[in-house]
Amino acid sequence: MTLRIGFDMDGVLADLATAYAEVERRLFGDATAGAPDSPDANGEGGVDPGEDEADAPETAKDATRRLREERRRRQIVWHAIETTENFWTTLAPLEPDVVRHIAETAARHRWEVFFITQRPETLGETAQRQTQRWLAAQGFDLPSVVVTRGARGKLARALGLDYLVDDTAKNCVDVVADAKARVLLVDRSGDPRVAGNARKLGVAVVASAGKALDVLERATTARGNPTLFSRLAKKVGWTAGGREPEA
Ligand SMILES: [Mg+2]
Repeated sequence: MTLRIGFDMDGVLADLATAYAEVERRLFGDATAGAPDSPDANGEGGVDPGEDEADAPETAKDATRRLREERRRRQIVWHAIETTENFWTTLAPLEPDVVRHIAETAARHRWEVFFITQRPETLGETAQRQTQRWLAAQGFDLPSVVVTRGARGKLARALGLDYLVDDTAKNCVDVVADAKARVLLVDRSGDPRVAGNARKLGVAVVASAGKALDVLERATTARGNPTLFSRLAKKVGWTAGGREPEA
C-alpha cells in the first residue's frame, strides 16, 4: 500500500512570515509580529465597528480602532503581495534542503506526496504553477500542488491522505474531525501549551518539517509491525486518525 502524505506550504516549507514582514516594513516602516496564512486569515471575527461606538467605553473604542487599522494594514500588505509578479517563487525555504529530503524519502518509500496551500493568486503565473516551480527549484521534481479555498478536512478525505503536516492548529483540528489522516503539527514556538492542546486532540507536535519527516519515515517503517507502530503513535501523541486495521 502506498502512503499518501500531504504537506502544507507556508509555515511548513516556505518562509512566508519573513517575506510578509519585509513587505509590511517597506510599506509602513515597521512590521507586526507574524504573517497571516492568507488574506482571509484572522480577517474576520474582530470587533465590528457598529453604531454603538460612540457610547462604548474608551478602551473598546481603542480596540475597535486598532482592529480596524490592523485589518486595513493586512489588506494593503496582501494587495502588494498579489500585485508582485510571481511572488510565490521568491520565498526562502524555512529549512535548507528539506524539500529535497522529502523528495528522496518519498522516492525511497514510494510515498505519494501532495503539497497543499491556500495561497491567493498573484500577478504572473497561477499560484499552483509558481508553487510547482518553487518546489522543483528546491529539489522536488514533478510536484502535485493543490490550491484550495475550502476546509482541509474535506480535502484530506477526498485525497485519501494517510498523513498531513501543517503549521496551523485550525487545519489540524479540521482534519482530525473530518478525515482519517494522522496529523503532524509543525510548531516552531516551542510553547508547551501548543503541545499540550495538540496532544489532547491526538495530534503529534514536531519542531520542524525535518522532524516531521523523521516521524513519517519511522511510521512507514513500523507499518507492518503493530507493536512498534503503537509505541511510536503513543510516543508522538497520535490517538486520532488512522485507517481501520486491514483484515
Ligand atoms: Mg501554513
